[in-house]
This record gives sequence, C-alpha cells and structure tokens, in this order.
Amino acid sequence: MSTGAPSTTQLFVVASGATARMRMRIVPIVDDGERVAAINRDLGIVPLEVSAEGDDRALAEVYHVFRRLELPDAARGGEAERLETALSAWGDALAGSGIALRLERRALYGAPLPRTDWQGSTSGVSARPWDVEMTALAAGLRTIVKLDGVPRELIDTLRQLVEQRGFQVEVVGQRDAAGAHDPSRSVTLLVARDASALVEARELEALLLAPRGASGVTAATIRMGALLGYPPCCADRFTRIAGQNDTTLAWALLPGVPHRPASPVIQWLHPALALLSHSPCDLHCAPSVALGERLVDEIEATQPTFAAGWRSLTARVHVIDHRGNRLSLTVDGPLEAEATITGADVVASGSADAHAMITAQRLVGQTVHAHAGGLLTADGGWHAPYVADHRG
Ligand SMILES: [Zn+2]
Repeated sequence: MSTGAPSTTQLFVVASGATARMRMRIVPIVDDGERVAAINRDLGIVPLEVSAEGDDRALAEVYHVFRRLELPDAARGGEAERLETALSAWGDALAGSGIALRLERRALYGAPLPRTDWQGSTSGVSARPWDVEMTALAAGLRTIVKLDGVPRELIDTLRQLVEQRGFQVEVVGQRDAAGAHDPSRSVTLLVARDASALVEARELEALLLAPRGASGVTAATIRMGALLGYPPCCADRFTRIAGQNDTTLAWALLPGVPHRPASPVIQWLHPALALLSHSPCDLHCAPSVALGERLVDEIEATQPTFAAGWRSLTARVHVIDHRGNRLSLTVDGPLEAEATITGADVVASGSADAHAMITAQRLVGQTVHAHAGGLLTADGGWHAPYVADHRG
C-alpha cells in the first residue's frame, strides 16, 4: 500500500435501554481477529463496557437482533460502507424494542493484543524495575502484591527474594475449569507485609473465581483492588469492562487521538514501561497520577539513575501499530496537526512483523497525523490504531 487511508476500521457504538447503557464495537472479522459476541457475515460485535446503573442483561437483545439482520453480501461495497450499513440496519431493527443506538466514534481497527506475561517481554525494551510492586508495598502504597502465572520452578527463588525484604508470601494454586487444583500449572503468589492481609486476600481470591455477575463478585473485585492499591474510581470502572483482557481494556479506556497529553507516570499501554499495576480509569485520573509520582520518588530513592532513563522512553507517544509492534515514539508537534516522528524505539515486536527494527527506523523523519482516532503516516504506508500520548 502506498497511498490513502487504511481500509480496516471499526465503529464504537452506545446502546441505551430504559435503565442500562452498554458500549460496544462493530468490528470486521479478520484472520487474526478476536472473539466476538455476535456475528453476521463478515462483521462482529464485541462488548466493551456497561453503565454503573441498571442491568445490562436487559440489553442482550442487541446481540440477537444483530445476528438476524439482513446485511448485504460481504463482497459488495467497501468495509467502511458495510459498517455504516450494518449500524443503520441494526438501529432500525432495535427501535421497536426500545433500545437506541448512538455512534460514539469511528476508529482504526487493530488486531487483538497478545496476552502480556508478568515477566514482560524478553526481547525489546524493559525499563520497568522488576520489583516496582514490592517497592510500592514497602512504601505502604498497597497492601498486597499479586503475581499471576508464576511458573512453578520460580516459586522458591521469588519466595526467597520476597522474604529477604521482610514480606510474607503465600502460594495460591492455579485451578482448572472445574475448580480443582492443578499441580502442573503456574501459580499465583500473594505477598504482604503481614499475615492478616494475606488471609483477607486469599479469601477474596476464592470469591473472585466465581463467574462475573455472581453475587459478591463486584464487591470482592473492588475490595481486592483496594488491597492492590488501585484507586476506587479505577477499580469501579474495571468491574464494568466487559472483557478483562488487554485488548478490551485498551479500547474501553484509551480515547482516540488527538487527546490532551497525559503524564508519563500513568503510562500503561506498554507493560514493559508501566509503573502502575492497574489500568487507570482515565489518562488524567488524578489518584493514579499521584500514585505514579510517589512510585517514581520511591524508586529514585534506591535507584537514582532510574528516573532519567525511564522518563526518556516514557514521556513520549506510545503506539501499537497495524503489525502489532509496540513502539515508543518521540514526536515533534501536536497530533492535531502534521507532526514529525524524530525517534522510534521498539518496546516489543509484533508477531506479524519480522523486521520491527527496520519498521521503526523507517518511521523516523516521517510526518504523521491523527486519523480516525489513530495515527497515520503521510504516505499511508503505516498506521497505529492504539495510541496514548504521554508527553504531558
Ligand atoms: Zn481512576
């Protein structure tokens, strides 16, 4: 592709019933695509987030109606046109059931993000102190540290490291789908300053194994969030997000660009650079910014050279491009206008790009502009659907 806008787009839609509201995406069905809640020809629906009030089960009709729509053949018309046609037909079909649809925004489509490993990527950049969560625990910024997916062979080493710092640790076995302990699989480690916090966290963990929507799960999620040091506003929003995976979190929580540049301390799109362990409810969430600033201070106190290196990589524009590359870009100028990329570092290579370093090098010197909430180079040869501006 040499010129023109990327063809792959998606629509963000809000469905409103008498009492509840739900945000959703209408997405193209592509080879490397994601699981959808409803499908019709080459389009699918992915739920994003439900409103705090009301019962979103009242909105289940939106999926049934979508599946039954008479949509034109996938071979006819461009993708953008098919999305608009589907939205219009869907809205008309729902009108009789008292559910209104509103187009929130058009956006570039990006393939789902790979699941992030707690150890981070071994190739690419990592400027996150591995023990940032232990630093937060020692500083009283959280009550519990929870390490998910720890391979069994690392348990003893981690236990020693944690106990050297005077913390207590408990291994919570991973359970299989039937709820039975599975000794062959990875485990969750809970770490705290005292035993009573471990007891409470272990009890909450047991409650959290129940399916979403079961009685007590939301309250347990919010309480666990408090033990983990997550601000209440962020924990509350997290409980309303439909899929607790990186892709859904990114689409639910990141506004399209251009957006007001946010503080680097709150960067979370790239886990390898993130100081926070949670996804902030907003790029300008004040309690999250305050927590991030405290963490930088705490880390600097023991690792004085850390902050400069971390800031030079993080006070930037962070993107995940159309090939899945995680990049940290230095960009000259506001994203409202034509801006120039002056530097590009690969934080992690996308699985669809064997030459991520070359992709990054070629971006330097190119101009970019905001397009459908993402970034697009002037020649149209590269675009990034996921973008977070942390130059604030
Ligand atoms: Zn918040």
